[in-house]
Amino acid sequence: MTKFLVDRMLGQTAKWLRFLGIDAEYAPECEDEKLLEIAKEEQRIIITRDKELGRYDDVFLVEKGTPENIIKNILDTYHVEIEPLSRCAKCNTSVESIPEEEVKEEIPEGIYQRNEKFWYCSGCDQYYWRGSHWDKIMKKIEDIVEDSDEG
Ligand SMILES: [Zn+2]
Repeated sequence: MTKFLVDRMLGQTAKWLRFLGIDAEYAPECEDEKLLEIAKEEQRIIITRDKELGRYDDVFLVEKGTPENIIKNILDTYHVEIEPLSRCAKCNTSVESIPEEEVKEEIPEGIYQRNEKFWYCSGCDQYYWRGSHWDKIMKKIEDIVEDSDEG
């Protein structure tokens, strides 16, 4: 399973990779050498706009483009398994499905009533459910994945 280390300037790209269930850590702000070291240690591909870094192996140099285009290029280049919405977009931790009785006390009553399935991120202590943004995200994910398959 390919993992990534995403440049701080590419926050949207990191977020969308995570929505797709792909392991995408933010790169800390540090010297290029240090970044390369982290990437090697954790076996991550660096995604960056930094041309200097782009000269190294296992670095994906991003050209201009929307986050969608960038993601499509990444999917075309690397073999990655997609598991939409299995990962927390905020902190990159895999979310776990949790039984509804366990969230009852933790979330607003109205949300609890309207939903049946809930997820929990242990990384940032956050509960998730299929809110109104869910459909929008899934639609965009479908667009990204379909285009990527065709191309
Ligand atoms: Zn989280």
